[in-house]
Amino acid sequence: LGLALSMLAGCGVTAALTGDAPTGRAAGPAGRVALLLPELKASRYEAADEPYFAQRLKQLCPGCTVDYRNAEQDAAKQLEQAKDALDKGAKVLVLNPVDSVAAGEIVAAAHDRKVPVISYDRLVLQSAVDYYISFDNAKVGSLQANALLQALGPKASSGEILWINGSPTDNNATLFKQGAHAVLDGKVHVAAESDTADWNPDNAKAWVQKTLPTLRGSQIVGVYAANDGTAGAAIAAMHAAGLPDVPVTGQDSETAALQRILTGQQYMTVYKAIRPEAEKAAELAYNLLRGVHPKAPTTIDNKAGQVPSVLLDPVAVTRDTIKSTVIKDGFVTAGSLCAGA
Ligand code: BGC
Repeated sequence: LGLALSMLAGCGVTAALTGDAPTGRAAGPAGRVALLLPELKASRYEAADEPYFAQRLKQLCPGCTVDYRNAEQDAAKQLEQAKDALDKGAKVLVLNPVDSVAAGEIVAAAHDRKVPVISYDRLVLQSAVDYYISFDNAKVGSLQANALLQALGPKASSGEILWINGSPTDNNATLFKQGAHAVLDGKVHVAAESDTADWNPDNAKAWVQKTLPTLRGSQIVGVYAANDGTAGAAIAAMHAAGLPDVPVTGQDSETAALQRILTGQQYMTVYKAIRPEAEKAAELAYNLLRGVHPKAPTTIDNKAGQVPSVLLDPVAVTRDTIKSTVIKDGFVTAGSLCAGA
């Protein structure tokens, strides 16, 4: 917890929420908590979100059970998983929605049974969800955009970039896009821009492959890619077309992306400290199980009202800062980056 708290210092988390974090002794009720994650293509969910969440909850409440489900980017499947978890007795839902609006049905099903819902990483829209724990996602987009501008230098005005967003059903993707456009509009020429259905790297790769031949005459000098999966896809498609490496953005600090940064194929990624995010969610879930409703440091409007929220701070990572960020924090080891690089 020391690490979690020191990570949170300066991210606007008040003593109200941290102060309510229990001591970790085996007090309080046993209970079931459902952890509903959206997909498997990004490595974070099973490498970090799920284990850190489960470890923290078990530490606080050895008698508690985590009912973990992954919807594999299928909103209908996520609704079924949520209903099944409720049928099996889940008393709190920690929901990372595949579809930010459609997830209102999950919230309704939970609230019918007086089960609170924590919107985890992605915000549920237009539905009165109980809490939201995430990062400042518009800032993720602006970190990516500022890094790209810096890497492009004078080429920003002479060449063109490809622009790859995330899934249109993910509110985070909307925020990344908005944050990046706010920085780059008027400063770069965009040859082509696309959303990526389901955040699926295969879809991003197919889009780049189909788009490149239509752009004869443009000089592609950089790629805005919303996360590491789509970055890797764009890089593979450009390599296959025989194009040279250009600055490419990313997000998640996936091992494969950090390796591409070390070998010069990708310019940057974003480090979001998943551990404090998952641990905060576990602490909050435990409090809700005990009937404690902590005050949150801020609120976010989700078009159904003001949602009590905790927003953590994302950090840009380039080759020069890998050591002082993701390695220093223990998110990855230096050894894991060397293996296979
Ligand atoms: C998350 C990213 C992730 C993407 C694809 C977003 O909601 O914030 O970390 O790369 O979904 O799963």
